[in-house]
Amino acid sequence: MQTITESYLQTQLEERRRRLETAMSSGAANGAISALLSEVDAALERMRDGSYGICEECHDSVEQERLLADPLVRVCIDHLNEPQRRALERDLELASSVQRALLPPHDVRADGWQIHYCYEPAGVVSGDYCDVIPSRGDDAGGSAVFLALGDVSGKGVAASLMMTQLHAMFRSLANSGLPLSELLERVNRMFCESTTAGQYATLVCARASASGVVELSSAGHLPVFVLRDGEVRSLGANSMPLGMFSDGDYPTQKMRLETGESLVFYTDGLSESRDRSNREYGFSRLGEFLRGRHALAPDALTAACLAEIKEFAAMQHDDRTMLVLRRG
Ligand SMILES: [Zn+2]
Repeated sequence: MQTITESYLQTQLEERRRRLETAMSSGAANGAISALLSEVDAALERMRDGSYGICEECHDSVEQERLLADPLVRVCIDHLNEPQRRALERDLELASSVQRALLPPHDVRADGWQIHYCYEPAGVVSGDYCDVIPSRGDDAGGSAVFLALGDVSGKGVAASLMMTQLHAMFRSLANSGLPLSELLERVNRMFCESTTAGQYATLVCARASASGVVELSSAGHLPVFVLRDGEVRSLGANSMPLGMFSDGDYPTQKMRLETGESLVFYTDGLSESRDRSNREYGFSRLGEFLRGRHALAPDALTAACLAEIKEFAAMQHDDRTMLVLRRG
């Protein structure tokens, strides 16, 4: 049976075939168009004989996200030729600089809050999303800081493109005055419309207002740590990841933070780090590490956590992002 991805790709190829034929018949015929047309036909033929998506060099699978981006790809990323590899490297460097330019300032102080984050991609580009946006609250007149930290499924350029998409959607809606749950419902619907099958993002977002109240929602993301009274509590997800079902519901919860109390957001690149014996660092160990470090300022706390993870991990397999929001 064909997978959903393959039938999606088949539809894409048939659509491209029709467009190429239209271009040919409108008199624009040239060698490049007819060469493309035979490539599309060859790809459809490979679908029929079952060899589609298999690298012609090593016979391993071609990366699915690359097929989704270009259904004519015939070799895996390890078997690109030299010019293709150089072109890919140039594209990645450009994508990386675009992505770095989207990041907020590392230190933000606003409305009685201190915010610091660190963002460490495992490769040239990252599928992690992090943003801090000074905004208005959902109540008239109040000001607030909007925060979001998320992790897009998959890796590489495809994931980084989805990250930039999330960035654009939250940037355009953060100041709309919409209640947080409605804002997430809208982002989810747009994300569902624009992503291909099987791509999604986990995300936690919060609106921290000048009164000390934080409204928070977690779309399938890892637990958030709450540091208060010398204790570390964790708050789990209360809804599905973004991009899974178009009519998702995103309930929020509210809490008030007092001076010196913090929330800690992070991606699985931290908690799922592995040591040389392939043991996972784990979420509860991260909670233990935070215990007793309540007094640290956000920048010192993120630096201490990152240093701890780096000492533990044999190597960095995944993007690491951590954000600390502290009152006072
Ligand atoms: Zn290969």
